Amino acid sequence: MTASLDEAREVLRRTFGHADFRGLQGEVITEALAGRSALAVLPTGGGKSLCYQIPSMLRPGLGLVVSPLIALMTDQVAALQQSGVAAARLDSAIEPEERAQTWRRVEAGELDLLYVSPEGLMAPHMMERLRRTPLALIAIDEAHCVSQWGHDFRPDYRTLGRLADIFPDVPRLAVTATADARTRDDIRAELRLEDAQEFVASFARPELALFAERKSGPAQKRVLELVAERRGRSGVIYAGSRDGTERLAEALRQAGVDAQAYHAGLDKHVRAHRLEAFLEAEDAVMVATIAFGMGVDKPDVRFVIHADPPGSIEAYWQEIGRAGRDGDPAEGITLYGASDLAWALRRIDGREMDEAVKQVQVRKVRQLYAMLEGAGCRAAAVRRYFGEEGVEPCGQCDVCLSPPETQDATQAAQKALSAVHRMGGRFGRGRLVDHLLGKTKDPSDFEAGLSTFGVGQELSAPGWRDLIDQLLFEGLLREDPNDNRPLIALGDAEGVRAVYRGERQVRARKAAPGAERKTAGRRRSAASDLALPPADQGLFEALRAWRREEAGRQHVPPYVIFHDRTLAEIAQARPAAQRALGAISGVGEGKLARYGEAVLAVVREFEG
Ligand code: ADP
Ligand code: ZN
Repeated sequence: MTASLDEAREVLRRTFGHADFRGLQGEVITEALAGRSALAVLPTGGGKSLCYQIPSMLRPGLGLVVSPLIALMTDQVAALQQSGVAAARLDSAIEPEERAQTWRRVEAGELDLLYVSPEGLMAPHMMERLRRTPLALIAIDEAHCVSQWGHDFRPDYRTLGRLADIFPDVPRLAVTATADARTRDDIRAELRLEDAQEFVASFARPELALFAERKSGPAQKRVLELVAERRGRSGVIYAGSRDGTERLAEALRQAGVDAQAYHAGLDKHVRAHRLEAFLEAEDAVMVATIAFGMGVDKPDVRFVIHADPPGSIEAYWQEIGRAGRDGDPAEGITLYGASDLAWALRRIDGREMDEAVKQVQVRKVRQLYAMLEGAGCRAAAVRRYFGEEGVEPCGQCDVCLSPPETQDATQAAQKALSAVHRMGGRFGRGRLVDHLLGKTKDPSDFEAGLSTFGVGQELSAPGWRDLIDQLLFEGLLREDPNDNRPLIALGDAEGVRAVYRGERQVRARKAAPGAERKTAGRRRSAASDLALPPADQGLFEALRAWRREEAGRQHVPPYVIFHDRTLAEIAQARPAAQRALGAISGVGEGKLARYGEAVLAVVREFEG
């Protein structure tokens, strides 16, 4: 007998404490309950996990979840156990004794959900036991990992296609937050989901305010400012190199911020320890390379800063997407510069891989910078990139808040290109600016004799630097690394000719003198993020203090107990009895039984 969506909604209410399904959840769950495979692309925070958790609980048999990272599994299993769901994981970190115990529970049919890694799953001894186990469904989380066109390719995922033959009657559910059309095609082909229904939600993340700034001066200083404006909240900062993360974390600590570096070069225990500390804190900052990735399901990350830009729009959306998973306001801030672009292109060039794959990657990098540099809504640009149609501007990114004014800079661009041409690509950016302004110290006769020497009086030095960046972003100039003393050379010859001939216009942003930073939308505290009336903030803080203590006692992250949003609702509703408390979103029966009395006591004490 097939369970109905109403029964699923009942589980959603009772076990997870949510009033109703969101977005495409209901549709995906209906599909799985009917025993059909599906591919679901839902945005981060869109509630992907419930799409397979609830059918696993309702359908007879074990729900098998394939997940790429131990940290992801640990978090989900802990959260499920808090809600009273019979869930366990089998990964390389589990001791033999616990492993045996878990298998006993599997064989006794006691478990609803079992989390495994792809390589663990395909290991012969595991496969053999699973063949004998009735399965409710197989969920493949972060399914984009199967695709070379995606940005997190994991060869292990390729083996998962075999599940179609091994378990022909078990519905398989592939879920991911980032997959453009091409990646989706790959997922279907590789995972043998040709006939599966596809569910693609909107990529909108209305709780996320996006900002991007061209770097002007040292990124570290700017990052320190941005973090200082966001004191007391959790954040993730991405940096391009291991060294970079260490330096930035150190600088932040000096400034009194609880910050740690995280990268693949660290000992695995150190890494695990830092991750745990970050997850359990309410105001810690993690400075990481992309090695700190998918494992991070911390819902209350309030900001993500790219001190160095990501590699593609997919990576951007996924990394920025780690902010605000709980649905409360959060920010994504990206710092980028022309030399970052040059570096990214160089790195792709130096890789050993198919020319076709290289071309895709170069295009992805270019598309990212087009979005960062663009004069259109950032959120809309990303959503269009993922194939959404009829997208409206978000109204809250830096471009929507203050659309950059541009002006025709074709003449100035001609001068700059011509100067680069005449100087033979032998000089860096600073020299080029001096040359245009005629300020070169002790110019050689050669240089002083060039017709471009001193022709650029219409712009200031910063104005020229901006314009040169712009030309770099547009590919009209390119930067050669030259051992960290980059030289500027002409870029795309066709484009340069078109500019010379006046057939291609160059539009530059007008520098607004003394314009205040658009990212300065300061957020003061968690309570004000949640728009909590001042009268309720005291109770909210008291509840958070209780949660902190409880989380410390159990050694779990605070959000596994209750999300901020739930505590804020409690603070406003001030329930006096279990019934009223149970009506609040995020308070399921398991948590009501476990924490109801303690929470009511905090409320009573506060009111008394
Ligand atoms: P994803 O994996 O898609 O990023 P999760 O499954 O971790 O998202 O869910 C994100 C958050 O949204 C979780 O805190 C979850 O409890 C909450 N959530 C999921 N579904 C609902 C719903 N229908 N109503 C309210 N909250 C929900
Ligand atoms: Zn916008």
